[in-house]
Amino acid sequence: MSDVDFYAARMDRAARAATQEGLAGLIVTPGPDLVWLCGYGPPATSERLTALLLAPGRRPQLIVPQLERPDAERAPGAGALAITGWTDGEDPYAAVAKLLDGHGRYGVSDNAWALHLLALQRTCPGTAYGALTEALPMMRAVKDAYEVERLAAAGAAADATYETIVDLRFAGRRESEVAADLARLLRENGHSQVDFTIVGSGPNGANPHHEAGERVIEDGDMVVLDFGGLKDGYGSDTTRTVHVGEPSSEERKVHDLVREAQQAAFEAVRPGIACQEIDRVARQVIRRAGYGEYFIHRTGHGIGVTTHEPPYMVEGEHLPLVPGMCFSIEPGIYLPGRFGVRIEDIVLCTETGARRLNNTARELRIVA
Ligand code: ZN
Ligand code: ZN
Ligand code: ZN
Repeated sequence: MSDVDFYAARMDRAARAATQEGLAGLIVTPGPDLVWLCGYGPPATSERLTALLLAPGRRPQLIVPQLERPDAERAPGAGALAITGWTDGEDPYAAVAKLLDGHGRYGVSDNAWALHLLALQRTCPGTAYGALTEALPMMRAVKDAYEVERLAAAGAAADATYETIVDLRFAGRRESEVAADLARLLRENGHSQVDFTIVGSGPNGANPHHEAGERVIEDGDMVVLDFGGLKDGYGSDTTRTVHVGEPSSEERKVHDLVREAQQAAFEAVRPGIACQEIDRVARQVIRRAGYGEYFIHRTGHGIGVTTHEPPYMVEGEHLPLVPGMCFSIEPGIYLPGRFGVRIEDIVLCTETGARRLNNTARELRIVA
């Protein structure tokens, strides 16, 4: 399939899913949903209306400001769209109204401007609207071959970043300096956007929300490295925990435990199993060893055109895994005031189990 066919198939699938949810169609404004559906990613900061309209059995319609039309026509999915430009002074909502049935309920992008939605309601009083992620939370969850290829390439770029960073000096440098190296390396390995570069050394590693600060890394520190961003429009997100110099036996034990939990969750992946089961399997390993209270976050999240998205590997998520879902498995143990350990890989659910999209060694790595 060519790129445009992948986008056409996605838009078709989304329109049909909308019908199944009782919606008359979808109205998608700039943001990750628009990028995913047709490959068009204008900044979401313009007050001028851009909207993709999807309804079953109809050619997808993209309404754009006339001055942005050339950009829209260059989008990889443009060949599957009917593009309508509107010029300043025209009423773009009237153009949209002509394409809506005048009645029915539509799913609208979560981040659509109130300005646009209120104008649509005024122009089409017979219509009703609901948030797109409430209507179709799993719209982007199952990845096609085009997406898996890009996610795997982003994962390989993150792996290459890790293999380089572990040869650099840690002791005596600030976390922020190592974080800057991670960002530089991600870009050198083809990332166009860096979303996070967490460097949590010593006690800072025990706080999963810590990013990177001015603390100087010392010999004897555990250091959590969690980094990722976008390469060719798709996300990377991986974590390894390294140790500066020889670790204590407790540090080794905790790291082994997290690795065991990560491996157990990886092996539990198969089609049909509920997302919460992946979380339970990882948590069970850590709980049995007496560290349950120190694993303080969900086990994973989906990844695609954004670095965090549904499905979530969390207690209460009953959704079954489906081949093509890509998500993180990232258990951790956080000992307050002391150190933290997290190990994270992106995995793909296949017909027969999981395939890792991160492939650097998960053993505790000693750095200088
Ligand atoms: Zn240590
Ligand atoms: Zn991460
Ligand atoms: Zn993650």
